[in-house]
Amino acid sequence: MDVTESRRQFLRQASLGAAVAALTGPAALAQPLTAAMQHANKKKLGWAIVGLGKFATEQIMPNFNDCAHSQLVALVSGSPDKARKLAREYGIDEKSVYDYQNFDSIRDNPAVDVVYIILPNALHAEYTIRAAQAGKHVLCEKPMATSVEDCQKMIAACNKAGKQLMIAYRAQYEPFNLNAIERIRKGELGKIQFITADHGRPVKPTEDQADTWRVQKKLAGGGSLMDIGIYSLNACRYLTGEEPEEITAQIYSDPKDPRFKEVEDNVAFTLRFPSGILAACTSSYSYQGVKRGRVFGDKGWLDLDPLSDYDKHTMKIGTEQGEQEPKLKEGNQFAAEMDHLSQCIMQNKAPRTPGEEGLRDVRYMLAIYEAARKGKAVKV
Ligand code: NAD
Repeated sequence: MDVTESRRQFLRQASLGAAVAALTGPAALAQPLTAAMQHANKKKLGWAIVGLGKFATEQIMPNFNDCAHSQLVALVSGSPDKARKLAREYGIDEKSVYDYQNFDSIRDNPAVDVVYIILPNALHAEYTIRAAQAGKHVLCEKPMATSVEDCQKMIAACNKAGKQLMIAYRAQYEPFNLNAIERIRKGELGKIQFITADHGRPVKPTEDQADTWRVQKKLAGGGSLMDIGIYSLNACRYLTGEEPEEITAQIYSDPKDPRFKEVEDNVAFTLRFPSGILAACTSSYSYQGVKRGRVFGDKGWLDLDPLSDYDKHTMKIGTEQGEQEPKLKEGNQFAAEMDHLSQCIMQNKAPRTPGEEGLRDVRYMLAIYEAARKGKAVKV
């Protein structure tokens, strides 16, 4: 069974537990059995974070607290003072603090099993490949990379090293999204006709340090689409369980707005799926924070608003009988995501969102840019 098939199988499964148990794939097979056995005795795998920016320090590092199988044991940063301070705060041995130059010596640190790359997009490939060559498994932030070639090199490097590569699609580990997938697969909404998904926020490169690289093409790869529109795209794929066949798109950036000299602002794109489902999505670096999706079936609709925030998810369902708001429990998607990879490594199973999943989105995003540039539909 290849990764595509195993992912489809997951998406068809109603139960998350059954789905995870059913997953096997090339990444799992590539990992020598001895490596799986080596991890089998550990209750928690050791994780290193590469890049101590906003997302790493505000969201990821504190959430190791809720992990059952993952433990923060090393840091990699270009700012020694920041790294030392955080190491003290998190009880990390100073010997396990690296910079970008001596990062490769992490190979000699047996406490580190997994390296989590949280750098600007264009640096994901280099550090994923270096981590794999250092004999470590990798979790890499979205978007996986800024070109198809880089994605392929990352997959090849991890396969060659016999290490797992997972892309950090946290929404696929988030309970409201998983519940939506389950309801859709069970047919609660009937035959799905349409999806709409919108993701955007105002980018503020002069006010927020984390936004400075986001408006530089060389580091970001693209604008709102690569950064936040990817949530709409990825959601359309996991909510339908299908891969798009045809893409159309339009892009507009105010030529007078200095933020958009190198990357795009507003993107509108459509996806046509094999079963006939159509999706209409937007992404923006200008409209006020929106992160929502709606699935329209012939028996009902389902709203996730937000669909992909850090917390406070809501779900609404409308049918002929009226509207309801299922009472679902918020879960820690960050801890679930990290523990999923740790468990896959310990059990020698392929992760649910492997490198191939990230590669597909990069291909589709490049097709969205192509469709907008050419002003016509692009087959994918
Ligand atoms: P950030 O700017 O706050 O962090 C990036 C880190 O990389 C900084 O510590 C910076 O010093 C370091 N860095 C190393 N080399 C650099 C270079 N050449 N130029 C600029 N910075 C360099 O950004 P962030 O918001 O933390 O985003 C980092 C990654 O995480 C991105 O890929 C982004 O897409 C992803 N992200 C994911 C989510 C999510 O919800 N999954 C949310 C936010 C960010």
